[in-house]
Amino acid sequence: MRLYDTLTRTDRELRPLDGKMFRFYCCGPTVYGPAHIGNFRTFVLQDVLRRVLETGGMRTLHVRNITDVDDKTIRDSQRAGQSLGDFTAGWTEKFHADCAKLGLLEPHIEPGAVEHIPQQIAMIEALVAKGHAYASDDGSVYFRISSFPDYGKLSHLDQRELDPGKTQNVRANADEYEKDSVSDFVLWKARRPEDGGNFWQSPWGEGRPGWHLECSAMIREYLGESFDLHSGGVDLVFPHHENEIAQSVCACGGHFAAHWFHITHLLVDGGKMSKSLGNLYTLADLEQRGFTPMELRYVLIGGHYRKPLNFTLDSLHAAREALAKLAKGARALAGRAGGDVTLDRVDFGPFRAAWDSLNEDLNTPAALGGLFTGLREAGQLSGNEAAAALAAMNRVLRALGIVLPEETGGSIEIPDEIRRLAESRWQARLAKNWAESDQLRGQLAAAGWQVKDGKDGYELTPAG
Ligand code: AMP
Ligand code: ZN
Repeated sequence: MRLYDTLTRTDRELRPLDGKMFRFYCCGPTVYGPAHIGNFRTFVLQDVLRRVLETGGMRTLHVRNITDVDDKTIRDSQRAGQSLGDFTAGWTEKFHADCAKLGLLEPHIEPGAVEHIPQQIAMIEALVAKGHAYASDDGSVYFRISSFPDYGKLSHLDQRELDPGKTQNVRANADEYEKDSVSDFVLWKARRPEDGGNFWQSPWGEGRPGWHLECSAMIREYLGESFDLHSGGVDLVFPHHENEIAQSVCACGGHFAAHWFHITHLLVDGGKMSKSLGNLYTLADLEQRGFTPMELRYVLIGGHYRKPLNFTLDSLHAAREALAKLAKGARALAGRAGGDVTLDRVDFGPFRAAWDSLNEDLNTPAALGGLFTGLREAGQLSGNEAAAALAAMNRVLRALGIVLPEETGGSIEIPDEIRRLAESRWQARLAKNWAESDQLRGQLAAAGWQVKDGKDGYELTPAG
């Protein structure tokens, strides 16, 4: 499959460096509150990427971290009167529950920052030893960005007229800082009174790691110096990912990530989502309004990941209708399917365009469109061919992580005999053999089944 790469600004083929397994890292959630639907746009798209690779036959190793120590988690755990560990464990659990509802595959490895303090300290020691980092008077340690000539390549700093060479001794101590300030960033933060009991021993005194460091340390631990792909929302390109590259390449050598996959932000009602504007939605908010997680998933993949996506409650209504239509189409196709289809016999058939769209820069909206056109094309198929088309459709649905809603009242078992009668009737109808078609309809009715014809197929329902 091909995917746009932020670093080279080109579409590039995704191939595992080791020829066997595609190993990738996604910056995970900061667990100080519920994840919002913007965060989930990013996590869902990363999930679709993995599913497409796996559906295409590739093995993957998916690492996604949990940020369980930073300025925000410490501040809010204290406000909540809880220990940092208890506080972040509660929000991590909630995050996992939301992920499961949204059909996200669990990452193979999900490391937390607090569990990896020794690895982070070791990385700082390596950076200090090589002259890429220095301690300040208060016992904090900073990365010297003028020591890394490639600093700024990912975010194309040279085109933003920001010159890292001019920033000697300009330092940022906060975990998050202004998009347009290029400065030496903090690797180790000396203990401050507001940290409470959240500090660790280090060669530079008591303190805690800076936020940017954790991903570099965990990547080194689980993926090594060079790996296949790194991902996050666009807000992470600068400074977070730029800083990760600097730390990792300077401490360990290697190339770090071979490919960079960034997801554009979700907007709400045309603007930024924020607590103060009252437009910050969580999955729970939407469930309270009666929507399902699958409807949200459909909306989140309804736009291409490189374009901003505007979320509205209306888009959830539209998703509900679209899912119902797909489910109806799939049921009609299932009603006409017969015979055995083994997966290796599945060529994507009428769903080829949907599958190809996913492999061309993860074009999820085109893939969704392709499901509808595929169903229309499959309307003439029956028997084995219908069964093969259905298997292909299910494969695309699995790659998108979409589970279609069940028919209200549960799914209906159609006896083989009835299925055969209905199939013969459909064939008679296609052959414009109206007398036979009517006679078969009569037989079906006598057996308690009603046939409703549509443009592209028919539906069988129990009569009365
Ligand atoms: P955080 O929990 O803030 O560390 O963010 C988790 C992930 O969500 C990161 O990859 C962010 O880049 C991403 N993210 C944050 N806000 C949005 C948004 N509005 N739309 C899409 N992704 C977002
Ligand atoms: Zn990260």
